[in-house]
Amino acid sequence: MELTGKVAIVTGASRGIGRAIALELGRAGARVIVNYKGNAEAAAEVVGLIGNAIAVQADVSTQAGVDALLAVAEAEGGAELLVNNAGITRDGLLLRMSDEDWDDVITTNLGSSFRMCRAAATAMLPRRRGSIVNLTSVSAIMGNAGQSNYAAAKAGVIAMTRSLAKELGRRQIRVNAVAPGFIDTDMTRGLPTELLDHVKQMIALRRLGKPEEIAPIVRFLLGPGASYVTGQTFIVDGGLS
Ligand code: NAP
Repeated sequence: MELTGKVAIVTGASRGIGRAIALELGRAGARVIVNYKGNAEAAAEVVGLIGNAIAVQADVSTQAGVDALLAVAEAEGGAELLVNNAGITRDGLLLRMSDEDWDDVITTNLGSSFRMCRAAATAMLPRRRGSIVNLTSVSAIMGNAGQSNYAAAKAGVIAMTRSLAKELGRRQIRVNAVAPGFIDTDMTRGLPTELLDHVKQMIALRRLGKPEEIAPIVRFLLGPGASYVTGQTFIVDGGLS
């Protein structure tokens, strides 16, 4: 119960990795703000499983959505913990990638993390405590054909994490990132079976990861056991990279 009494925001917590993180933080005692974009039913289920939680609909790719989410967090006493997990893919080879697919992926994966960090840090700085974890991806580190938009956005998240760690550290606010490999969620379920079979052969553990295998690392980084860790990116990929 190491996070008892702390308010945690998890963006994109209705499904997949965000859901598992929200459940994990709830088990560690945090009051969890379960953010989602459209799937109210799934978010309500997560809230029901945690108990000490509330669901907040907000599109974090917009400043209005970020402001609305932070207003709820302040009403709850202020978020000391933030997980920027909301993300999307719009895969496509370079010559077929539209401006829209490029912009949407950059805005949702990188822009939302930036806006959430800025808004959350505004509230954390005067309190001189806070811990942020940003979800990135091994695609940012290895590159991935068909994911130039996503890999660029996630590489931006890593660089932003390092820079914010240096900027916010003097006020004891830590910023780290977690880079999952291929995890079994709605995001990867749409991929062709042949591609997934090929990917599994490249993973040392020969299988996709589960969302529940990402969540404990995020909890650790947010919590007291990582009190001297900041600016780092933790790869959790079953040995893929
Ligand atoms: P997912 O199953 O597709 O779930 C995405 C979640 O994000 C949903 O809860 C969705 O809400 C929410 N969301 C999307 N856009 C949003 C927005 N604009 N505002 C608020 N919420 C939004 O994704 P996932 O696989 O769990 O991925 C979670 C994170 O891990 C992402 O950042 C992803 O890039 C990263 N990641 C995933 C993998 C993987 O293999 N799955 C690997 C590396 C990194 P609704 O339910 O309301 O739509």
